[in-house]
Amino acid sequence: MQTIANYIDGNLIEPQGGAYLDNVEPATGKVYSQTPDSDEGDVQLAVDAATRAFQGWSQASASERSDAMLSLASLVEANLEKLARAETIDNGKPLWLARMVDIPRAVSNLRFFATAILHTSSEVHFTDGQAINYTMRQPAGVAGCISPWNLPLYLFTWKIAPALAAGCTVVAKPSEVTPMTAFMLSELCIEAGFPPGVLNIVHGLGAKAGQAIVSHPDVPVISFTGGSATGASIARTAGPMFKKVSLELGGKNPNLIFADANLQAAIKISVQSSFANQGQICLCGSRIFAQRAVFDQVVDGLVAAAKSLKVGDPLEEETKQGAIVSKDHLDKVLKCIDLAKEEGGTIHCGGDRPPPPPEGLNVRCKDGFFLNPAVITGLGPGCRTNQEEIFGPVVTVTPFDDEDEAITMANSTVYGLSSTVWTSDLDRAHRVAGKIQAGTVWINCWLLRDLRVPFGGMKQSGVGREGGEYALNFFTEPKNICVKINHT
Ligand code: NAD
Repeated sequence: MQTIANYIDGNLIEPQGGAYLDNVEPATGKVYSQTPDSDEGDVQLAVDAATRAFQGWSQASASERSDAMLSLASLVEANLEKLARAETIDNGKPLWLARMVDIPRAVSNLRFFATAILHTSSEVHFTDGQAINYTMRQPAGVAGCISPWNLPLYLFTWKIAPALAAGCTVVAKPSEVTPMTAFMLSELCIEAGFPPGVLNIVHGLGAKAGQAIVSHPDVPVISFTGGSATGASIARTAGPMFKKVSLELGGKNPNLIFADANLQAAIKISVQSSFANQGQICLCGSRIFAQRAVFDQVVDGLVAAAKSLKVGDPLEEETKQGAIVSKDHLDKVLKCIDLAKEEGGTIHCGGDRPPPPPEGLNVRCKDGFFLNPAVITGLGPGCRTNQEEIFGPVVTVTPFDDEDEAITMANSTVYGLSSTVWTSDLDRAHRVAGKIQAGTVWINCWLLRDLRVPFGGMKQSGVGREGGEYALNFFTEPKNICVKINHT
């Protein structure tokens, strides 16, 4: 059984307390590796290493930082197949998805920020002919980066890449549920000759290792992606310490389908936006609102497509839906299905476990955490099923009559992460997009990403934005320097 190590000061080391957590393969339900159960002592070692490395890294030229990150990106790319397989085993996602999206995206995150810093500009303000103000951007210090389990290496690199590029040194904690590819990244850092102490990876539980990072006085900047309740807890700790905090949190994203939409495209993409990665993407559209004239057609199309998605061994090429990430999470999603039934919802398909071998799952996966994707109707927008984040392969479909009603329903939750609008009416598209409370609105598409654009949520979906300059600015402190011009 493989044992994962912390990566501190350029070395792979055991947790100081010698304690480990079981790491389970979701497709089999079996423990397959051990993860450090790190504590304050391990975080202290990592912060000490990052503090020592800060002087050199923050003053290295942009091209030196860029070169180090590009070498690491090339090694990640060279190990794509190995990393994709590891991600699939650790997370339960289909191998083709890890191969096509997760690992390539980790490479582009590193490359994007490594090269962005070669093309920055500085602000200058001329003040009524009396002074010149110029703004320096200096690295904020040791950054704490904490990431979730749904897109493990993808979101881990989405945080550490801008932090490192900006000149911060980093103490990062991947999710204890999916630690493997971050561990493999630390091995690649050593192979790439990444400078010791610049990136430190501490594994362990959120309430222990995560909290130790958030509350550490020498970590002035915290970038977090995860659930809204965890975000609130982090804000409670970081607020009184006046830390800079970026919070990317939960969602309950609306997907609006108007009668004038290209329905074939809307249904095809809505199946992806509902069920991709077993519905465990923060940007998944979990509430579909369909205009009444096309409601039945949308439901029928979604149900037919959901039933055709092959649920099974994520290592098999034809699998479209892999395993849910953990037993705990599967139980939570199953409870949500029960709640939807109690609330009067009609389950058109899914919400149940696929049959065991020989009819359904293969023998390897007989104890895995699988769930057939569910399409539910008959629920109003205000019920708990339509208000609370499920984060699984479950979508509700609700009819609406006009634009105002659709917008009211879309905005009726505490979340505001993303939204999709399907319409062929250009005016309507812009009108509706302007009124939806969400950090991102996709029109006639979903998950079409550009790493330069602001990414984040409104309301309880987050604080701040990631992406491009937004992330580089977050990891730096602006300093204004005012130079008086003497007119003699
Ligand atoms: P989570 O909040 O349970 O955990 C996220 C990370 O925070 C993990 O590394 C965990 O160990 C750590 N953590 C937990 N408690 C902590 C604490 N008190 N202090 C410091 N760190 C702590 O979330 P999860 O279950 O891993 O991920 C699913 C959630 O993440 C969903 O709500 C999903 O919507 C959200 N998410 C949001 C985005 C986004 O960009 N907005 C992206 C992906 C996932």
